[in-house]
Amino acid sequence: MAHIHVLPPETSRLIAAGEVIDRPASALRELLDNAIDAGASEIQVRIEKGGIDLIQVVDNGGGMSREDLELSIAEHATSKIEKALDLLSVSTLGFRGEALASIASVADLEITSREAGSDIGWQLVVDSGKTPSLKPTASRHGTAVRVQSLFAQYPARRQFLKRPMSEALLCHAIFVERALAFPSIGFSWTSAGTMESYSSGTLEQRFCLLYPEVPAALVSRFDAELEQGSFTLLFADPSFHRKDRRYLQIFVNGRKVPEWGLSGVLEYAFSGYLPGGMRPCAFLFASIPPAQADFNIHPAKREVRIKNIEAFKSAVYASVQPHLRQVFGAGPSNMEQSAGIAPRTTGLFPHEAAQSGYQATPRAFWDALQEESKESRQEERRSGVSTESPTPATPGPFRYIGRAFGPFLLFEKDAVLYILDQHAAHERILYDGLVESQHPSQALLVPYVLEFPSGEMRKQFLENRAELERIGFRFEMENDSCIINEVPALLGEKAVQSLTESFFSESVEEKKSGGGPHTDMLATLACRAAIKDGDVLDQAAACNLIGRALRLPFPRCPHGRPIWIALDRNALYRMVGRLVG
Ligand code: ADP
Ligand code: MG
Repeated sequence: MAHIHVLPPETSRLIAAGEVIDRPASALRELLDNAIDAGASEIQVRIEKGGIDLIQVVDNGGGMSREDLELSIAEHATSKIEKALDLLSVSTLGFRGEALASIASVADLEITSREAGSDIGWQLVVDSGKTPSLKPTASRHGTAVRVQSLFAQYPARRQFLKRPMSEALLCHAIFVERALAFPSIGFSWTSAGTMESYSSGTLEQRFCLLYPEVPAALVSRFDAELEQGSFTLLFADPSFHRKDRRYLQIFVNGRKVPEWGLSGVLEYAFSGYLPGGMRPCAFLFASIPPAQADFNIHPAKREVRIKNIEAFKSAVYASVQPHLRQVFGAGPSNMEQSAGIAPRTTGLFPHEAAQSGYQATPRAFWDALQEESKESRQEERRSGVSTESPTPATPGPFRYIGRAFGPFLLFEKDAVLYILDQHAAHERILYDGLVESQHPSQALLVPYVLEFPSGEMRKQFLENRAELERIGFRFEMENDSCIINEVPALLGEKAVQSLTESFFSESVEEKKSGGGPHTDMLATLACRAAIKDGDVLDQAAACNLIGRALRLPFPRCPHGRPIWIALDRNALYRMVGRLVG
């Protein structure tokens, strides 16, 4: 008995359509691709009810003649390739000639188009199941496509759709992908009473508008030509990072692709500058000759097969890695004196009093620190802790706002709101101070006797003797104790307590900086001596700390956490759902 039969055309068409159009976002993707392929310089998107009721894409591209419009909804009808060989040179986003046919089989479709040079437009209406109708109409140059009532005739399909709000988010994600990859095209988006508009600009400008939560001041661009193609990398300073891969994206020839190999390369290149488990903000836009990048492996062109991918990955790494080293190794460019606030000694930095002239010449101090930190950076790079960073903030006037939730200091600077973690900031400042080579000591009024609870502790203490002396501790060893006479002025009255805690306290949370034993010891000392979450700083002390933190070359605590969060106006507007004006 025969079991095989040929499916009726409507059924096979529906199966094929399902591969291309499975939800509003995929219809939107196809319409955007068509508008981009048509050479539009302006594209307007409007969706209603998450795209289920309406998806409308209006472009000012080349448009279609009456004949082309009629043919556009036929299966396998495309103007983009003619023969199989053309697949090797196709530079458009579309080429399969399936999208409009698929959309027409699962929704009501209306296309209005007027070709450049023609004084009349045409409107094609295909209500699912009915014969298409075509009529002349007055219209602008370009094409307007309206997709309504998606899957209205297919309840089985419709029930797999999410709530309109979720579908709208998926549509918006597609919109953002295309708007990011084609910054020279102006885009607008309207949905549920919200409107976004992006005029044509550079990739960096477009990125910062689409991702306002990434502070623009932290974003850099790097372009490179490779044998296999070229790429542009947009990346943020490592102080901006995340656990997930939201800001780690790969685009190949204008399409966002899940190219894990390439994102792995970026993760690897940034890994030395990030706390463990964190991912960078890095967007790679690769341009690869069409013959080397095959998108014809997925009906929705969601994947790409890159020829010689290994060679490409190596070439990307070989150019990105030295660039990052160059950028993150560079010192701050703007070393002006903090103009708004005159720092004064408040007890937070007791060693300042000992360093005569330091207050008057912050630049000299800075230069010295730079010189010395060059050396320590060398050392730290080997030990896995990096103090390399660009200048995420520059010294200069700021407005202190106040204190929040105990450990946070709020201030505004250059139209950016900073929320500074007082403990982390102080910890970093003390740590940077400790890695400097010269340290004034401060005599204790009453020498402190440190008893070693075990021979092992004594041994451990002695192993660190030279380093402890280098940073300003002076002591005499006895049998199972030592007498501490002088302590580093930098750590002040908390020096002894920090020392005992870093060596002997079982309860001390073992925070590893990832560096060598000395790096860890200095980090722990800085952590113990730094102000705590509950310490309340008066305004002068808070301003002093902020001023110092702004001058840090690497605004993260020695364990890698950022010392502040920076929010600009756009990010705040976006958070409360307001239009960025
Ligand atoms: P493909 O994009 O793969 O060619 P589609 O089904 O998406 O297939 O579109 C079929 C054809 O209709 C395209 O090749 C193009 O010639 C024409 N077309 C579709 N949308 C537009 C548009 N917005 N502007 C001009 N032409 C368009
Ligand atoms: Mg298409």
